[in-house]
Amino acid sequence: MIDNGDFQAYYLRRIGVVTPLTVPTTKKILEPVAEVIAADISAHEPAPVYSETPSETPSGGSESITGLEQVRQAALQCRDCSLAESRTQVVFGVGSECPDVLFIGEAPGEQEDQVGEPFVGKAGKLLDQMLASLNWSRNNVYIMNVVKCRPPANRNPLVEEVQACSRWFDAQWAALQPKLVCLLGKVAAQRVLGSDASLASLRGHWHEYRGVPVLVSYHPAYLLRSPTQKARSWQDFRVLAGRCRALQAAEASSR
Ligand code: SF4
Repeated sequence: MIDNGDFQAYYLRRIGVVTPLTVPTTKKILEPVAEVIAADISAHEPAPVYSETPSETPSGGSESITGLEQVRQAALQCRDCSLAESRTQVVFGVGSECPDVLFIGEAPGEQEDQVGEPFVGKAGKLLDQMLASLNWSRNNVYIMNVVKCRPPANRNPLVEEVQACSRWFDAQWAALQPKLVCLLGKVAAQRVLGSDASLASLRGHWHEYRGVPVLVSYHPAYLLRSPTQKARSWQDFRVLAGRCRALQAAEASSR
């Protein structure tokens, strides 16, 4: 196990930060962060409001679709929104079927659309490195997107696309039963938390969704564009790992 003193340096080295920023390491670790980075993550565009709407039953009259593989097989056939016209394939998700931590991004990009797996390419490689710094991998977490098909030209998914795809999101969530969730980027954070708040204001404290603790962090693609923020992503992942360890310890002691 890596102790806190070594963890920051190890993490930053794994994700390519040579000269780390000075970041707080106190128990109030996340609280000042939103203020510090507010200017860095100022919104560049009006944020659509993704309201939390009741999901319909997955298409095809599939009330009985509950297992993850059943949900996946049904979702692969979905043509419930216009993204079905331009996609190569549905990008469902990857990882453990009973994950402690569920990572959620916004939508597949070009490479994900080709490969059929979320978070591949440079951003995916960075996410893999971030996971590895916690001794995690794609095999013991689960990674998925809010929207399962690639929006043309990598634009943000439209509100109606998010709402159409919420049936798969909800079925996937129910099958996975995650213990902790990390939302990667603004779109995922706004969709799951039903908020139009900025990433800066959503990041830095725990939220709850359907009884599950939720943390908001940066999308790896944003970190590639703004590498100075990699150091601050360490704070989020450290907090996430700490809570995961606490959950696992509590489960072990209750057996
Ligand atoms: S984005 Fe979701 S709702 Fe739209 S076609 Fe793909 S799987 Fe279906």
